[in-house]
Amino acid sequence: MEACDVLVIGGGPAGATAAALLASQGRKVVMLEKAHHPRFHIGESLLPANVALFDRLGVRDQIERIGMPKWGVEFVSPDHDHAAQVEFAEAWDKSMPYAWQVRRSEMDEILFRNAAARGAQAIEGCRVREVRFDADGADVLAVQDDGSRRQWRARFVVDASGRDTFLSNKFKAKQKNPRHNSSALFGHFRNAERLPGKLEGNITIFWFDHGWFWYIPLADGTTSVGAVCWPHYLKSRSKPLKEFFADTIAMCPALAKRLEAAELVDDAVYATGNYSYTSTHCSGERYLMLGDAYTFIDPVFSSGVYLAMHSAFEGAEVVATSLDQPARAADARQRFEREMRKGPREFSWFIFRVTNPTMRDFFMYPQNPFRVKEALLSLLAGDIHGKTPIWRSLRTLKAIYFAVCIVNPRRSWNAWRRRQRNIRDLGPLAGENILEAK
Ligand SMILES: Cc1cc2nc3c(=O)[nH]c(=O)nc-3n(C[C@H](O)[C@H](O)[C@H](O)COP(=O)(O)OP(=O)(O)OC[C@H]3O[C@@H](n4cnc5c(N)ncnc54)[C@H](O)[C@@H]3O)c2cc1C
Repeated sequence: MEACDVLVIGGGPAGATAAALLASQGRKVVMLEKAHHPRFHIGESLLPANVALFDRLGVRDQIERIGMPKWGVEFVSPDHDHAAQVEFAEAWDKSMPYAWQVRRSEMDEILFRNAAARGAQAIEGCRVREVRFDADGADVLAVQDDGSRRQWRARFVVDASGRDTFLSNKFKAKQKNPRHNSSALFGHFRNAERLPGKLEGNITIFWFDHGWFWYIPLADGTTSVGAVCWPHYLKSRSKPLKEFFADTIAMCPALAKRLEAAELVDDAVYATGNYSYTSTHCSGERYLMLGDAYTFIDPVFSSGVYLAMHSAFEGAEVVATSLDQPARAADARQRFEREMRKGPREFSWFIFRVTNPTMRDFFMYPQNPFRVKEALLSLLAGDIHGKTPIWRSLRTLKAIYFAVCIVNPRRSWNAWRRRQRNIRDLGPLAGENILEAK
């Protein structure tokens, strides 16, 4: 049995950030990652609020080198004859105008190696199998690629296992989100058409009948394209994934046009099953859950990596308090629980309505009375945990939304009914996690 202060399960953005911060405090940190970096991961579009976090970790230059600058978002709707462009520079706080699109294999490796460089023992090919808590800490059992077992005695455990939700499963704390339900199909394309000049790196969101598409241009010339669709649509598939994906793209003529000359890289198409969930709690006396290990919301606003890294910054402070000042740990955990619910809650209000025609109009014709556009862009930039005073304007925007819904009762009622039908629970799809099919 080896000993450590903190054992981190998972070396993705949340785990590697937490491990780097805790190791920098001089603690003995062990981070176990079941895969080997660079490993594939989806989730390639970052938010401007990420930039400050990379800065604080000392990796901003490295991320800049692999990233495609993303200055804003383009929205394309089948019901409007124009595309809408918004720029982060128009947000409330003008000092965070851009983010990057990244290959996650590259970004996650940078974060993982950074944690090791800061003193964390970062072990790959080592899957945590069991954690047993007692009053002073936990025994952690892990199995390496060659089948050998290793055990650690840890004073504190940080679960950053992503959608594997290691501790949430153990505590039966995982709950399906009853208000949302979606699934995704995605692949990478060569020779996809790009927007001109500075717009080239922007993410495009295309709405279509069964949900929406992301279109994420990467720095190496490939473009990540994904359909986030209702589970009943994915379940209706009766042909190979690649053909089904091609048919789905054909349902969105504006996207199909951009892909006219493009070819699928390696013929690889991926699908993920239903994936919005939360956990009843994210902390205990000897553990925390970070990032996707705690909750996952729909990716339409590219919030996942930011929320995961932000949770690691907050979480590292809670771990330090729990280890150094146990008398203050309960308060720190309470604050952490509140903070962890805030981001998903604020994004979710818009996520639940993003396919609603009223909300779509807001994105297609962005207006700025009472600074509502600036506030919304700040939310889209991830600027929700600082002091930017966007909340009154966001409440105004929500009030305007309800007022517009009320004056269009038939449209609103139909949209509500359609959504209820679309998010209905059909049981598990092909799997909770990512499957690959060619
Ligand atoms: C279809 C889709 C599209 C998305 N698009 C975006 C986007 O555009 N922008 C964005 O910001 N986010 C996006 N996301 C979300 C984003 O991918 C996640 O929110 C983000 O990766 C969370 O980081 P994490 O560190 O919590 O988890 P992960 O990145 O999943 O890292 C968890 C790590 O833990 C390891 N692990 C798991 N179990 C164990 C174990 N038992 N032992 C050891 N290691 C283990 C895994 O191998 C993995 O490396 C998307 C997600 C999906 C599904």
